[in-house]
Amino acid sequence: MFQLDEQSQMVGQVIRQWCQSTLAPAIPELEAGTLMPFDLMKKMAKTFGFDAMLGGAVKKRIAKLRSGDVNPDEDGGEKIGKAMGNPMMMHVVVKELSRVSPGFAMGFGVSVGLVGGALVSKGTADQIEKYGLPISTMQQIGSWCLTEPNAGSDAFGSMRTTARPLEGGGYALTGSKTFITNGPGADVFLVYAKIDRGEPPAGQGVATFIVERGMPGVTVGPPFKKMGMRDSPTSEVFFDDVKLGVEHLLGGKEKGSAGRSDTKESLGNERSGVPSMAWGIIERCYDASLQYVRDRKQFGRAIGEFQAVQLKITDLFLKLRTVENIVFRLAWMQQNNVKDVPYINASKAMAAQLAVDAALIAIQIHGGYGYMEELGIEKLARDSKLLELGAGTTDINLLAAARQLIGVTERE
Ligand SMILES: Cc1cc2nc3c(=O)[nH]c(=O)nc-3n(C[C@H](O)[C@H](O)[C@H](O)COP(=O)(O)OP(=O)(O)OC[C@H]3O[C@@H](n4cnc5c(N)ncnc54)[C@H](O)[C@@H]3O)c2cc1C
Repeated sequence: MFQLDEQSQMVGQVIRQWCQSTLAPAIPELEAGTLMPFDLMKKMAKTFGFDAMLGGAVKKRIAKLRSGDVNPDEDGGEKIGKAMGNPMMMHVVVKELSRVSPGFAMGFGVSVGLVGGALVSKGTADQIEKYGLPISTMQQIGSWCLTEPNAGSDAFGSMRTTARPLEGGGYALTGSKTFITNGPGADVFLVYAKIDRGEPPAGQGVATFIVERGMPGVTVGPPFKKMGMRDSPTSEVFFDDVKLGVEHLLGGKEKGSAGRSDTKESLGNERSGVPSMAWGIIERCYDASLQYVRDRKQFGRAIGEFQAVQLKITDLFLKLRTVENIVFRLAWMQQNNVKDVPYINASKAMAAQLAVDAALIAIQIHGGYGYMEELGIEKLARDSKLLELGAGTTDINLLAAARQLIGVTERE
């Protein structure tokens, strides 16, 4: 797969038009925090018929589970991108959104891809119907809650959020999560917690809970002030003895140590989404720079006639093609169920670095104008840095890939 299929090209074109007409004008307010992105996300889903595109596939999954046709423990679930029939299309949507607003793309990806994906692939038929369907079709917004104040890269080892089994059945969830994308507006939180039966934390299984906004004991902090991704509200979320029934346990049963593999699978999905964000950032930087070097004149000539500037254009061009190829391979892997975890980890790290470098090069090409808010390039530089931190930092992802390639034991 080395070029976009017709369907993805078409989707890309309509999303780009929507970004220009609707998303771009909202950026100043989104960045200032005076407008939350959630209504816009819902509007986008309506405009592009996500209900038909994704909802149909999710409903099929529900029917399959109810008919007993599949064993949810064995079939691995149906990934949202695959369910759409064309994983490339989802990458193109994220790429187009990221050209204008990587933060909006991230909020959308976390809700539909990460939360919707986990619910649809791991949930029971009832859970998919109640939570997976409205989240996959963007009628509701989801947050994915793994990170804690003292558990970042060491997400499992240091996790202190616990679910205590209650005598009459169900659980009491207590703990806090931080840096939670969509936290300020989410309807549903997918929360990772250790099952606490009194044994030491290292031996406790990890389970995923579906928590609704407004449940007694759930509180959400105010949006953080951030360097970038300002159009993606991030907050803390607190759980104080939140009473949950077994119907809130994703999949309907505890999985012991396998609960950690489910989380790692979600992390893999999250990492697979980062290169398409990098793709959008780099493509915008390349397009804007190419135009600028043709238009901008200094010393009586277009700056594109200066060799130092020309080298930067080739550099951006190669970064663009490199990240495109990463996304093509990821889409091909998703389409063909190819598992190449070291590639997912390492290519996420590489795509993130390419995006940061490209945004800084684009500012250099634009000179002082690149530093000004108006052109939107400085925003891409601020936003791109998050790609090197979220979904596992660059070093964590490269080290994980190395361990997987060499075959040494993976740490927690
Ligand atoms: C804007 C934003 C949105 C986010 N959204 C979400 C979300 O929706 N849900 C969620 O659960 N989380 C989210 N995160 C959290 C993100 O995944 C974490 O920030 C990330 O995993 C790193 O954890 P940390 O920030 O605690 O850094 P730490 O783990 O404290 O790392 C600090 C530094 O130490 C390095 N380091 C740590 N351990 C090792 C090691 N063993 N070997 C080598 N180097 C190491 C790291 O690479 C890093 O450079 C978000 C973060 C941000 C900034």
